[in-house]
Amino acid sequence: MILYNSPTKIEYQDNYFDFYLTDQRLMWYKRGGFFSKSDTVIAERIDTILEIKYEERGFLTKKGAIHLVTSRKTLDITSSIETIKAIYQQLQTFLIEPPSQVKTCQFCSKNMDVEARFCSHCGNELSE
Ligand SMILES: [Zn+2]
Repeated sequence: MILYNSPTKIEYQDNYFDFYLTDQRLMWYKRGGFFSKSDTVIAERIDTILEIKYEERGFLTKKGAIHLVTSRKTLDITSSIETIKAIYQQLQTFLIEPPSQVKTCQFCSKNMDVEARFCSHCGNELSE
């Protein structure tokens, strides 16, 4: 079920994609071109997203960027400021979780599951 589709393309790793947000994942999609016939789909489950950051980059032609941290990797998508802002707002409506589900490691500031006893990033014991 698609909930949101960006009005303009987004840029990811030097390619342009259509961006979609479904009730379970965010994905970007690129139809195969002349040289590579296969389509490219990048999908991330919303529940693996730990952190999302909005940034503006560039001097003359400002661009918006979303920096995403999931449990497996980090992703950067860029586009016009309007498009990125719209995507960011859509994502935020999803990412409002009860704060008790995450705690922050006091040594490296990474977010950990509230059940975790040790930080999976730096290995230190987490305080309650
Ligand atoms: Zn840590």
